[in-house]
Amino acid sequence: MPDVTIVGAGWAGLACAVSLTEQGARVALVDAAPTVGGRGRTVRIELAGQPLKLDNGQHLLVGAYHRTLEFVDKLGSEALPGLDRHRMCLAMPEKGFLLGRAALPGRLGHLVGLLRARGLTWRDRIAMARLIEGLRMRRWRHTAVTVADLFRAFGQSRPICDLLWIPLCVGALNTAPEHACARAFIAVLRDSLGGAGGDSDFLWPAGTLGELLPEPALRWLARREVVPRLGCLAQGILPDADGWRLSIREASPVSSAAIVVATPPSNAARLLRELAPGVANGLDRFEMAPIATVYLAWPQACELPRIAMLVDEPGRGRPGQWLFDRGVHAGLRVGAVVISDGGRFPQVSPDRLAELVAAQVRSLGLPPSLDARAIVERRATFRCVPGRPRLDASSVQRELGSGARIFLAGDYLDPEYPATLESAIRAGLAAAQRVRESLGG
Ligand SMILES: Cc1cc2nc3c(=O)[nH]c(=O)nc-3n(C[C@H](O)[C@H](O)[C@H](O)COP(=O)(O)OP(=O)(O)OC[C@H]3O[C@@H](n4cnc5c(N)ncnc54)[C@H](O)[C@@H]3O)c2cc1C
Repeated sequence: MPDVTIVGAGWAGLACAVSLTEQGARVALVDAAPTVGGRGRTVRIELAGQPLKLDNGQHLLVGAYHRTLEFVDKLGSEALPGLDRHRMCLAMPEKGFLLGRAALPGRLGHLVGLLRARGLTWRDRIAMARLIEGLRMRRWRHTAVTVADLFRAFGQSRPICDLLWIPLCVGALNTAPEHACARAFIAVLRDSLGGAGGDSDFLWPAGTLGELLPEPALRWLARREVVPRLGCLAQGILPDADGWRLSIREASPVSSAAIVVATPPSNAARLLRELAPGVANGLDRFEMAPIATVYLAWPQACELPRIAMLVDEPGRGRPGQWLFDRGVHAGLRVGAVVISDGGRFPQVSPDRLAELVAAQVRSLGLPPSLDARAIVERRATFRCVPGRPRLDASSVQRELGSGARIFLAGDYLDPEYPATLESAIRAGLAAAQRVRESLGG
């Protein structure tokens, strides 16, 4: 009998499983999907007639993802091919905008970068620096409720918002500034433009997301005889003599002393509805927002900007927001264009979305792409609004009493961060810590 059953083998569940196994706990891991990684996983798609391994959605990590990077390191050489790391550089070529961290130590690199930004007036550059330095002086606290309030409080002009802040807010929080939580945006700024030099670095997997963490974690666990039960949908949690029994559709149940529910909020709500209705009600209040990624293929010799912001005008059939160069795969140059919600997500089919984006990127002076395919994740992240529910790993215990060893893990639990890989890892590690404490170390 395992000590703990973890439901969900996304980044949170995997971090929890590795951490507990490392401490000597017997772990059972179940996931409804046929692969590990959850919302950050490898998928196979065909592009220009070639079967390729890519991601379910283009992800960007930053140097401030300390827990994630430590975790990737822990998995060691197995985590190859690792991450591509680049000094922060935000460019919107169509508008002549360019903002990069200067090669200077610590905060100075960011400050000089802001003051040197191309495509903005001196007045705007000083206003941007005033926002970052003003927040720093207030110890990264502010009374603004929404991100739009914050922009107004610091007198940010339309051009700064259009070229920098709105793309950053929609990209990082998957929520439009009028609705987005100022506290979460401030935390993102603190840990990137306001952080130490390398915190703002951009990182993305040199291979796929699955190769970066979920698959090495799986191998790490397998060597310690933890083999996840994939394709197993958990259906309910009931008390039993030894702790808890997790029922699984069309498979035998698993009993264990503790359970970690590491699923997205709506799935966790379904599992906990009977047992902890108060927590389930809180989980129900998370709203989810979509993100789409359009993969495009060009001949290998085609050159793409490493990362570029696009002028998004969904009303004029130009929905793409960010373009990433994903390198050469099977003789093709692959680009990924990301469309986050921002409340204006195009209501068109994935094929139409791919066509629109393929036409849009030509305005960067690129040749016509050979093929384009869209992957739309309808429930990509929670909407990062100020009034979102605040739960933590021990919320179920608080409802049921300290003897009830059921814990939550997942990207929605971080008190200040939006839904990110980093918040998922942090939540997985926090849940592992609570399990250890509840089992007496
Ligand atoms: C398209 C897209 C782009 C993104 N871009 C970024 C980015 O650029 N940077 C960034 O940091 N983050 C990004 N994110 C967010 C990031 O991927 C998530 O925050 C993170 O992966 C969430 O991990 P998790 O473990 O909390 O949840 P999940 O990954 O959702 O894992 C939960 C797991 O639980 C399983 N499950 C659910 N219900 C059950 C059940 N009843 N029984 C068994 N198993 C169950 C699911 O199959 C899943 O594997 C993006 C997400 C998407 C979708």
